[in-house]
Amino acid sequence: MLPKVLSQLVEELNRLPSIGNRSAQRLALAIAKDDYTSLAQAILDLKQGLMICQYCQNYADQKTCQICLDPKRESDRLLIVSSPTDLIAIEKTNNYRGLYFVLHGLVSPLNGVTELDLRFDLLQAMIKGNQIEEVIVATNASLDGETTALYIAKALAEFSQLKVSKLAQGMPMGGDIDYTDQLTLTRAIENRQVI
Ligand SMILES: [Zn+2]
Repeated sequence: MLPKVLSQLVEELNRLPSIGNRSAQRLALAIAKDDYTSLAQAILDLKQGLMICQYCQNYADQKTCQICLDPKRESDRLLIVSSPTDLIAIEKTNNYRGLYFVLHGLVSPLNGVTELDLRFDLLQAMIKGNQIEEVIVATNASLDGETTALYIAKALAEFSQLKVSKLAQGMPMGGDIDYTDQLTLTRAIENRQVI
């Protein structure tokens, strides 16, 4: 029913997370109606300019991100998150001053993601490079999050001096870190449990 150029855009927008077919159609029609060429340019600029921090793997605009460069961060603590949005959620609590490591995913057997798809080698390199004493695993309180936490613990077993903990219970089960309120998240960090 839609002209090909429009249905093509609907299809592309539909690929985005949490954009269903109807939303995609609405967005495509809005884009058709007004001038959104700056949006297209921003996407191109992003793909050209976005870098991944060589240490923590977070998105950055240079080889090393602002957090890894900040001398005021506590460089003996490392908090592991599955995504940059979870990192932002934890930064917003203003309660954690250590370093991060971003996994960019979770081990998810049902979705065909194994532990080999996550860069545990880079995680190990970061621990070696920073004399990390404590690792806090902050993956979602979901089956994939718990599975990933177990694989992280396994990957870190070779560091016998390392204290490995995970966020306390109290995180809503199945709850995403980035949807958890700041107080709950702060308590979950404070009451973390050794694994
Ligand atoms: Zn970094």
